[in-house]
Amino acid sequence: MIKQDSITKTIIESQQGSTLSLEPGTGNGRKLYIESYGCQMNFSDSEIVASILSKEGFNTTQELTEADLVLVNTCSIRDKAEQTIRKRLEKFNAVKRNRPNMKVGVLGCMAERLKSKFLEEEKIVDMVVGPDAYKDLPNLVREIDEGRSAMNVILSKDETYGDVAPVRLNSNGVTAFVSITRGCDNMCTFCVVPFTRGRERSRDPRSILEEVNDLWTRGFKEITLLGQNVDSYLWYGGGLKKDFDKATQMQRATAVNFAGLLEMVALQQPRMRIRFSTSNPQDMTLDVIETMAKFDNICNYIHLPVQSGSNRILKAMNRLHSREEYFQLIDDIRRINPECAISQDMICGFPTENEQDHRDTLSLMEYVQYDFGFMFAYSERPGTLAERKMVDDVPDQVKKARLQEIIELQLKHSHFRTREHLGKVEEVLIEGPSKKSGDHWMGRNSQNTVVVFPKQHYQIGDFVMVKVQDCTSATLLGEALEYSKNN
Ligand code: SAM
Repeated sequence: MIKQDSITKTIIESQQGSTLSLEPGTGNGRKLYIESYGCQMNFSDSEIVASILSKEGFNTTQELTEADLVLVNTCSIRDKAEQTIRKRLEKFNAVKRNRPNMKVGVLGCMAERLKSKFLEEEKIVDMVVGPDAYKDLPNLVREIDEGRSAMNVILSKDETYGDVAPVRLNSNGVTAFVSITRGCDNMCTFCVVPFTRGRERSRDPRSILEEVNDLWTRGFKEITLLGQNVDSYLWYGGGLKKDFDKATQMQRATAVNFAGLLEMVALQQPRMRIRFSTSNPQDMTLDVIETMAKFDNICNYIHLPVQSGSNRILKAMNRLHSREEYFQLIDDIRRINPECAISQDMICGFPTENEQDHRDTLSLMEYVQYDFGFMFAYSERPGTLAERKMVDDVPDQVKKARLQEIIELQLKHSHFRTREHLGKVEEVLIEGPSKKSGDHWMGRNSQNTVVVFPKQHYQIGDFVMVKVQDCTSATLLGEALEYSKNN
């Protein structure tokens, strides 16, 4: 991803590779250093891993050189992500030369994709653990303690970690992620996720509500429900989404879909802000948009990746909707919820993409005028359908030029959208100090736009009404007038 200020944000570049540290458990003597890359799901998974290992005597550290166990939670989504991780492994290798007892483990999508190859190719790696095998970590750590290498990359039909209380690491104490589904069944032809994270399964709504209630009790004010494709959430007592047709009548009658879950969470904690990510156009239904409009505490923001504006390319990508159906969805969102901000993911240079396809992408963007965007050049991933069936035939310089054009158009639209907030009074949840000034707070409005304003007497975690007076291309600047009624 080309980084352009905060307009192109989701995979938050500043977070990539961040280490996690938690409050030390008393009696824990060993030190765990854990670095995370990729999507928010990986950061959320690292909180589960830290929780499991804290019961095994590990406290986290941010000092690589004092670690007994180094874990890297990896991403395979693009080749560049994997290259970054290989470089980090070289660095760990250098540290290990001085600390021969230090153990190194690879977690997440790259572990799942490369499996035992990791142990063979990267000689410094002691342990390889796929995204569904974290509960086996206590056994795997015992194996490596005894000098053997250890691996578990088994994908599960029902693991959702619903019974593990994640430890909120390096948290602002205000916003948190709550995972609701694991895996993905979509089989987009460019995407490695179904192979690295397995089939789609949903988490029991009761355990989701318990986690949300616990977060509220501990002072958190905003949650983001997380999944590769949240609209596909379906709880019918456990099991894979694809097996729903085998469910009993009773299971079908009591099943909970995403709109149902959203409503449950919104009602459960009416003063808590609720966001969700990621939505998939082919699965998003009107009842989700209607539920958003019904509850003030569900934020007016949808991340709705489209990947391409060309019907021909959408088909080749196995995205199960057309450009026209996407427009219909956008129109429905704007009709039911006119205040809603919308963002995109876009891939340019997918195999066979020609100039007309690219023009179609630009014209789709002109129609929607997205608030934010996350734009990527196509990166061929081993094992995907596109890699097996198509030739990566768009030259690199063409991909780069198209990407640049897409980014420039997005910058223009983001600027237009940001300016629409000028003069309005909007509710902002304060997340922390502004990066640029110690005298200012930073927070977000419902649409997920960053708002910066003088601190006055307000505190982190307060909901305040801010009059928007000015803006940069992606940030609103204003002044807090009063606490919001939510406070
Ligand atoms: N599940 C979501 C979906 O399908 O819309 C997002 C999944 S992925 C973690 C995040 C984004 O990475 C995708 O929306 C896509 O734009 C991008 N991406 C995935 N595979 C890619 C590839 N092979 N090359 C370039 N970008 C890719």
